[in-house]
Amino acid sequence: MIRNDFKKLNIKKLDNLYNEDKNKIIIAGPCSIESEELLLDIAEFVKKNGATVLRGGAYKPRTSNRDFQGLKSEGLQILDRVRKKVGIRVVTEAVDTESMPEVAEVSDIIQIGSRNMQNFTLLREAGKYGKPVILKRGMAATIYEWIRAAEYIYESGNSDIIMCERGIRTFNDYTRNTMDIAAIPIIKKETGLTVIADPSHGTGIRDLVIPMSCASLAAGADGIMVEVHKNPEEALSDKEQTIDFRDFQELMRKI
Ligand code: PEP
Ligand code: MN
Repeated sequence: MIRNDFKKLNIKKLDNLYNEDKNKIIIAGPCSIESEELLLDIAEFVKKNGATVLRGGAYKPRTSNRDFQGLKSEGLQILDRVRKKVGIRVVTEAVDTESMPEVAEVSDIIQIGSRNMQNFTLLREAGKYGKPVILKRGMAATIYEWIRAAEYIYESGNSDIIMCERGIRTFNDYTRNTMDIAAIPIIKKETGLTVIADPSHGTGIRDLVIPMSCASLAAGADGIMVEVHKNPEEALSDKEQTIDFRDFQELMRKI
């Protein structure tokens, strides 16, 4: 049951993150930063085709400790060089308070991942840098819990919060998660915050990224975040949900 006592947050519109013609925030890039050459290729391609922000994980919160954990500090240095070379804003995830200063120095937007949505120490810390924060919905978080988590960031003095619907756990086992499309207009109505959707993690299936991006935007999302790779089959993480360059062009045409 939703407790209807949310406050409208006093937000600034994050104008500089929007795509000029479509007025949407388009965040695209690989799940993980793998090498400078590859990230540069991806960054140039997505920028040319309408992305406003490059994504790429350096610190990766992986379900299995045996999987690729990201290039960490080295990944952040690559991201910094690519950001400057290409001239594009970047977002990367902070997984703990120790790496937060390093992340905040390089990243134009700080990402808090699903697994950390209720890491309140991390949320408070993320709000201290004066940079926009993407708060991904916890995979089993209610609307109430998600909004309350956002208020931890807000309380640190940061109102530039972007709420990202990335799918939740349900009995449906066909997709990796179930996208809660209704959450998009609910969050906008209850908080006034900017809302984006991540159909890559939301579905876990490459072929669903375009239709679910369209569905999210139709429901009023201010933007999307999608995983794009030059050779998705060779991606070191989340290859099943990663689209290639042609699909990204198709996505941009469709939206
Ligand atoms: C990500 O976007 O890199 C990620 C790990 O997503 P999530 O936190 O939504 O699982
Ligand atoms: Mn991923």
